[in-house]
Amino acid sequence: MTTVRTRIAPSPTGDPHVGTAYIALFNLCFARQHQGQFILRIEDTDQVRSTPESEAQILSALNWMGLQWDEGPDVGGPHAPYRQSERSEIYKAHAQELVQKGHAFHCFCSSERLDVLRTEQMAAKQNPGYDGHCLSLGKAEVEKRLAAGESAVIRMKVPREGVCVIPDMLRGNIEIPWSEVDMQVLMKADGLPTYHLANVVDDHLMEITHVIRGEEWISSTPKHVLLYTLFGWQQPVFCHMPLLRNPDKSKLSKRKNPTSITYYERMGFLPEALLNYLGRMGWSMPDEREKFSLAEMVANFDITRVSLGGPIFDIEKLSWLNSVWLREMPVPELMQAFQRWAFNPAYLEKVVPQIQTRIQTLSDAVSWAGFFFAGQLKLTPEDFAHKKLSPDEVRRMLQITLWELEALRQWEHSAISALLSRVSTVMGIKLRDFMPSFFVAIAGSVSSTPVMEAMAILGPDMTRARLRHALAVLGGVSKNELKEWDKAWREQSAAALAAAAVVDASGGAA
Ligand code: GLU
Repeated sequence: MTTVRTRIAPSPTGDPHVGTAYIALFNLCFARQHQGQFILRIEDTDQVRSTPESEAQILSALNWMGLQWDEGPDVGGPHAPYRQSERSEIYKAHAQELVQKGHAFHCFCSSERLDVLRTEQMAAKQNPGYDGHCLSLGKAEVEKRLAAGESAVIRMKVPREGVCVIPDMLRGNIEIPWSEVDMQVLMKADGLPTYHLANVVDDHLMEITHVIRGEEWISSTPKHVLLYTLFGWQQPVFCHMPLLRNPDKSKLSKRKNPTSITYYERMGFLPEALLNYLGRMGWSMPDEREKFSLAEMVANFDITRVSLGGPIFDIEKLSWLNSVWLREMPVPELMQAFQRWAFNPAYLEKVVPQIQTRIQTLSDAVSWAGFFFAGQLKLTPEDFAHKKLSPDEVRRMLQITLWELEALRQWEHSAISALLSRVSTVMGIKLRDFMPSFFVAIAGSVSSTPVMEAMAILGPDMTRARLRHALAVLGGVSKNELKEWDKAWREQSAAALAAAAVVDASGGAA
């Protein structure tokens, strides 16, 4: 019998998402239940968006949750490397193989041509997709153009007729007409693979037997099924899990709910409780009990019990479950949980210097440092009253700063401080007038320890969550405002950049 091998294949392009932990959990349970292996592979083919920081955060967040993989970039394994950026040669060889066998072709179409094609197809209400323009190029011509250094991608040939049937463990046969499947680019002009090629080649070479992933990948699966056929490989069993949803049923998104695992860690949720909650997303124990450990989940696991109705990720329910875990914990364990969370030397080492010059007695620490340990602060709109700025201006600067902070990857004091001064300059607000609202949002009071240092210590998740909370306390931001502010901010930033470039070019004399 073949050994069951499952995998999680995150792309390191942002914060570690609870959805990744959710899919990892089900892959892990399935593998363990069959005495198989669970693999972690980093899919960093998108060179622009992938960062090593994000990869490190994803690994550490999944570790914190107690999801352990048998093979991966950090622990190695027989199919190393487990990071796609280190496997380029493998994909190149496989793309060439498909070209040689006539299953894939070089395409020289310019992005301008493809844009025009797309616009025409949209206007004619057709599915946008490649029209096969370069399919008929002869071998000699292709070689001549390649030798001349012309830029080309490699696309896969896709049947235009018939239906692709994908057997799915939860959904039965999924049928997708081939006419809806685009002639996917497999290799980009820079010689790097797209997700589809790298994903299939790796799943095959890493001997993955079951691909358990989110339902958002269903529309990509025909391309994968076809690749398995073209290579002459046996395809894995597919299982598309339901997507996690916000309480309003929309797809779980950070605009409506915190989605970063590190936010939950920082808020003081227990990893056991978060795992337990994720285990209840579309799945239940045979006896329907609500509290269970990972080991209990593995022991009772049955993937066919996953129900497809979109499971709702509701922080209130999660908080309740967390409270059950806390309540039922022996006190010595609870004490350890506090230590792991924030009462540990690593965290205190950051917080203590912040309050040292402000306290007269150790007990003063509670009022000065309380906000370093708090979750959401208790704030009122009056706390944000400003001598010079209107409430609308305060909301606008909090929102714009939040956007900018969401894009900041290097979470350090100097970067945060540069960001805040840039936003205040571009918005034309003196830093002295700009900062008080941030003191209130982050520390709960205008007189606190230095707020930019506090943001660096609190970390991106808690900082952003407090800014979001401040905006909510101030009445929230309407969709129209978001749109207007975004547009105006883009224009202002572009103008500021252009002005800086003029100063630069003239050696500062403009
Ligand atoms: N890299 C993809 C992701 O970010 C993997 C999807 C899959 O599991 O095939 O989720």
